[in-house]
Amino acid sequence: MIDQFGRRIEYLRVSVTDKCNLRCVYCMPLHGMPWMRHAELLTYEEIEHIVRIMAGMGLRRVRITGGEPLVRKDLPELVRMIAGVPEIDDLSLSTNAVLLAEHAETLRQAGIRRVNVSLDSLRPERVDEIARRAGSFSRIMAGFEAAERVGFDPIKVNVVLMKGANDDEIEDFAAITRERPWHVRFIELMPTGSNLELSAKQFFSCQEALRRLRAVDRLEPVAGPRGNGPALYHRFPGAPGTVGVITPMSHTYCDRCNRMRLTADGHLRPCLFGSLQTNLRDPLRAGEDVARLIEQTLSVKPERHNLVQGSVQGSGGLVALSQTGG
Ligand code: SAM
Ligand code: SF4
Repeated sequence: MIDQFGRRIEYLRVSVTDKCNLRCVYCMPLHGMPWMRHAELLTYEEIEHIVRIMAGMGLRRVRITGGEPLVRKDLPELVRMIAGVPEIDDLSLSTNAVLLAEHAETLRQAGIRRVNVSLDSLRPERVDEIARRAGSFSRIMAGFEAAERVGFDPIKVNVVLMKGANDDEIEDFAAITRERPWHVRFIELMPTGSNLELSAKQFFSCQEALRRLRAVDRLEPVAGPRGNGPALYHRFPGAPGTVGVITPMSHTYCDRCNRMRLTADGHLRPCLFGSLQTNLRDPLRAGEDVARLIEQTLSVKPERHNLVQGSVQGSGGLVALSQTGG
């Protein structure tokens, strides 16, 4: 799958639910989310069908995301189904890890090889505050332990930077990479309908984070772990892990984009942002051939996103990233 700008698209992020057991301040509003109904969600068979069609067109890598994917029932079943598609050689999971401890072993056996875990602070009370669910921190830590125990590799830690909320922990997060082979990735806060004030007032740039870390020690650019996407990676001398930055706001990485997104209700999105999306679910349920629709969606993949700080312009009416999987 090559788009009109010559980018090879071989990666699909599959959102399996828009629901979540957390309410991260930058992601979801506390109340008022327009939830998808269960009948609107793609079944696991429908997801597998779409993945198989796309695999025949060049898809090689799949990431399962949400909302929080582990709140959907029988997720390992879907993992087994996608792992059974011969062309897919990389199957990963994005999770908040709250439920990871109880599912890690089954997920590993089913075919998940690596995980990205969201963690926005190393301080228990802050995690609970940002996630707006008491008791999150200890469960997330148990999730990390389980991830290491069952051998997910690499483990990537996603940290959304927010001025005044966690920007004083940049050095502490980076210090983890000196001790563990983890890849800590700082993410710039992106504006969506539900976080306009927060994303405008508390934006913290990754360039500033790198400047701070360079004051601590030498940081060398490195190729980064398997599954390299939009992040650019750096390493402290001799460190087993890396520090990555994901800079949707300060620098665009769209020229390296290799992905499309499938929402939980079956819309194929050529870009995380913007209003372009194709309903694959209804044609699929009507017995139509969706390969043509996938090709059409690929052909309109935009050159770049047009996010504007403090504005809904560019986000295509998204209330929250949980609606598309991030
Ligand atoms: N629930 C899972 C998790 O938290 O990892 C998967 C879905 S979540 C939407 C995927 C990623 O998007 C997470 O790393 C999260 O921190 C990030 N994210 C959500 N809203 C964001 C925003 N407004 N700006 C930047 N990153 C965001
Ligand atoms: Fe849930 Fe992930 Fe959004 Fe947090 S970032 S509310 S864990 S979907």
